[in-house]
Amino acid sequence: MAYKFWFCTGSQDLYGDECLRKVAANSKKIVEELNSSGVLPYEIVWKPTLITNEVIRKTFREANDDESCAGVITWMHTFSPAKSWILGLKEYRKPLLHLHTQFNIEIPYDTIDMDFMNENQAAHGDREYGHIVTRMGIERKVIMGHWSSERVKSRIADWMLTAVGIVESSHIRIARFADNMRNVAVTEGDKVDAQIKFGWEVDAYPVNEAYEYVKAVNEADVNALLDEYYSKYNLITEGRDPEEFKAHVKVQARIELGFEKFLKENNYHGIVTHFGDLGALRQLPGLAVQRLMEKGYGFGAEGDWKTAAMVRLMKLMTKDKKDARGTSFMEDYTYNLVKGKEGILEAHMLEVCPTIADGDIGIKVCPLSMGGREDPARLVFTSKTGAGVAASLVDLGHRFRLIINEVECKKTERPMPKLPVATAFWTPKPSLEVGAESWIICGGAHHTAFTYDLTSEQLVDWAAAMGIEAVVIDGSTTIRGLKQELMWNNAAFGK
Ligand code: MN
Repeated sequence: MAYKFWFCTGSQDLYGDECLRKVAANSKKIVEELNSSGVLPYEIVWKPTLITNEVIRKTFREANDDESCAGVITWMHTFSPAKSWILGLKEYRKPLLHLHTQFNIEIPYDTIDMDFMNENQAAHGDREYGHIVTRMGIERKVIMGHWSSERVKSRIADWMLTAVGIVESSHIRIARFADNMRNVAVTEGDKVDAQIKFGWEVDAYPVNEAYEYVKAVNEADVNALLDEYYSKYNLITEGRDPEEFKAHVKVQARIELGFEKFLKENNYHGIVTHFGDLGALRQLPGLAVQRLMEKGYGFGAEGDWKTAAMVRLMKLMTKDKKDARGTSFMEDYTYNLVKGKEGILEAHMLEVCPTIADGDIGIKVCPLSMGGREDPARLVFTSKTGAGVAASLVDLGHRFRLIINEVECKKTERPMPKLPVATAFWTPKPSLEVGAESWIICGGAHHTAFTYDLTSEQLVDWAAAMGIEAVVIDGSTTIRGLKQELMWNNAAFGK
């Protein structure tokens, strides 16, 4: 879907036609400049000035009905009495941005008169409008600043990605090829509540139903994909017989094609697997799942459908981001506790998305101590450095909490030649000590949805739109402050 955003300027008929002509011309100019800036991931569509409650209601209803409209940007160029907005806002059900800007940057000291004041009074009109949105309890984003500034443009760009996440969330469908791992608590959750809150459909299938698709893939297609693997990735055979190695890799090529056909035919956007429930599959899907994630599918291991949906959501939110650096399912594995070099080694048994890779990607075939199947083929690599966010959606029994940790990705000090999985290494903010303590106090999982391409602000805004609690662990987090925040949140959301 090529999403668009509507730009709706508020005014009223009190100031005469001349003023309204200028209002329209100014808002058109803003839209043109924003669109040509190259900063925004989606196009903004200018709409005629909204001056009466009939026009406002009609415009919002049209925005609801237009599938390509992912949100409305509102701005009160002049004063626009907010009662006119009630009916339209009441019926509107897509993301809303209140751009609190004004046409001019500087007060025109030498020429300013009352006509100019009346024409350029967003400082006044946007407050009246903001009041009614708050009074009606509507979740919206407010961005303040001159429309030409780089900061405002990049914040609008970020919000557009959030809006797409809000609009797309209700289309996410996850296929569960296994139930949650026995005895594990944090990967569980209320699927009905998830559908009510987020719109996610989470359906179970016997893994052998997916296997039927794997079995049915034709040999020529498998060989073609195998050739692609062999041309794209380094083969790290580590003394294995090349033919035996290739046979193992081929199993994953077949799984990738079979699973993808299943997902496409049945309209799913993510899967969960479980090493303990593989049916007739010969290997735990490793390389196959890594490639599917790279194509934009969500994934969660050991039945973790919440993380699978979060990975899918993040992939949707970032797919139109320029220079995106990657998004993956991830797991906190082991620590480096050396002073000054603290961090968490992130990996999974196999399933880390190659979009986060830095440099060469290799294929390895190694035994897996769990599951009792053939040695699975997997892609191995290390990940990019830089800032990212790790998110964990947990079910507290009666409600969801989204925990977001800002992290700094680094290179490990030395290579790990014997580790046969893709890895990332990061230091959580504000430090490993406070970050990990905070995560545990929040009840965060060992599985996360990780991305370099979103900010905690975007995930918080998404959570607010879903009506769930979000807790950010960042550079300013203290344990005392966090515990107070959780206490207040418990009061607000119900413990
Ligand atoms: Mn796991």
